[in-house]
Amino acid sequence: MPPAAPATPAAPVPTPGALPDHVRVAVVGTGFAGLGAAITLTRDGVDHVVLERASDVGGTWRDNVYPGCRCDVPSHLYSFSFAPNPEWSETYSPQGEIWEYLRRTAAEHGVLDRVRFGHEVLELVWEDERQRWRVVTSRGTLTADVVLLGNGPLAEPAIPELPGLDRFAGTTFHSARWRTDHDLRGERVAVIGTGASAIQFVPAIQPDVAHLTLFQRTAPWVLPHTNRRITPLERAVYRRVPAAQRLVRGLVYWSRELFATALVRNSRFLERLERIGRRHLERQVADPDLRARLTPDYRPGCKRLLLSNDYYPSLQQPNVEVVTEKIVEVLPHAVFTADGTEHEVDTIIFGTGFRVADNPVAERVRGREGRTLAEVWGDGGARAYNGTAVTGFPNLFLLAGPNTGIGHTSLVVMIEAQLTYIRDALRVMDETGAATVEVRPTVLAAWSARVQRRAARTVWNSGGCASWYLDRDGRNVTIWPDHTFRFVRRTRRFDAARYELTAPVEQPPVAAATTGVVD
Ligand code: NAP
Repeated sequence: MPPAAPATPAAPVPTPGALPDHVRVAVVGTGFAGLGAAITLTRDGVDHVVLERASDVGGTWRDNVYPGCRCDVPSHLYSFSFAPNPEWSETYSPQGEIWEYLRRTAAEHGVLDRVRFGHEVLELVWEDERQRWRVVTSRGTLTADVVLLGNGPLAEPAIPELPGLDRFAGTTFHSARWRTDHDLRGERVAVIGTGASAIQFVPAIQPDVAHLTLFQRTAPWVLPHTNRRITPLERAVYRRVPAAQRLVRGLVYWSRELFATALVRNSRFLERLERIGRRHLERQVADPDLRARLTPDYRPGCKRLLLSNDYYPSLQQPNVEVVTEKIVEVLPHAVFTADGTEHEVDTIIFGTGFRVADNPVAERVRGREGRTLAEVWGDGGARAYNGTAVTGFPNLFLLAGPNTGIGHTSLVVMIEAQLTYIRDALRVMDETGAATVEVRPTVLAAWSARVQRRAARTVWNSGGCASWYLDRDGRNVTIWPDHTFRFVRRTRRFDAARYELTAPVEQPPVAAATTGVVD
């Protein structure tokens, strides 16, 4: 299998400079969230540093180089509103183009020299008496008044603990850590998982491998893909008339919000979607037995809706077998299933998703009372006011935090809304002279209860499936259970009254009126 083609470097990435002793703001990560934050802070002239564990920017679009990777949200919307790209080649962009877009945007906005590559954040500790964060990285320690966590919910691969996996004699890797140096040609390959990643790379590798055994635990809903090439004429129009691209972006946005109504209300419209999915399956899969095994038994939208025209056809090729038996054990040269079959394989590829609800970064962040985010969230589930602020963690802002995930549109919309909010929080801190802002516990509790109440009605909670959107206790801790414009509206301004603001130690008290406790 030829290696997946990563994006051609669009901009030179500077070598890391020295780590400052102290900054106003430390940003973690350089995906859409971290870069968006860096661009915002640079524009506002805020002293900051960006910590990135890898050697390049791009987040998930740098990491996921598996063959066939592309975004399932249209490109015109899946980009920063302030940095339109008239050059997208297809309506749904391939990974390489998005990565290149992020690198180029970072370079054009002059944020790269603030990035410290190869700096993994190992620990974030709030020092209450000094009113700042101690940031311990793999290459040194600094302090920061404020931290923006843009580490990304889909950054830590989840690999199931299958008995015997450590004794497997062949190669194993996760889809987000694709071994581009490993030649799959002529190999017997096991793919575990049938989510958004697997349905993209299975058709891409199938023609090259000797045999592909696909282990499906739950059948996904797969809908026809409408991707097409964007013509040179369209691109020329977008280049010369930026308003035309903004119009298309707006149309995509509002059509997605219209669709969100069905998901949010778990409405009858989903039955139409179900018919589209069933028809797609019937048209593409002739064998009734295989079709039955590929038919989902829950409402469409409960798990992420997948788009593909080549997934089902690839499963019917003579070198592919779909296995729905439970995996019991991994043997040195095979995957052993509950029906007693040994499926001999050379390589196992995990398309098994990410550690979202149990993201390990939460274990590294220690707040005012000495507890980690993971400990606090372990008691009642992951929660953050406006998906951004957590009581006990002053001056910490989460980007793409709990319940800002999206099942119907672009996450970039949510990230930009959060950046507006955080930017305003920094303004309020400057204007009031507050050294710290911390969301009030009653506000967070009320927020969390409201989000859970709202989520209960949605297809993500009540669509009859188990998914990474829900935590172990069945709480939706990932998805924004509403239209995105409501989130955009509520994050337009920093609502200081919902926060405790404190003055710098040994300074006069902060003048701002911050006593009213609101919902
Ligand atoms: P995923 O959607 O979480 O899918 C993981 C798959 O692995 C599921 O089929 C799951 O089965 C299976 N699995 C997990 N543990 C297993 C086990 N122990 N035994 C057997 N099967 C197991 O992961 P993903 O495909 O990487 O996608 C994650 C998210 O990334 C998506 O939801 C999406 O938000 C994002 N993504 C986006 C794009 C894009 O186009 N924009 C592309 C790829 C990914 P069950 O269903 O039974 O749990």
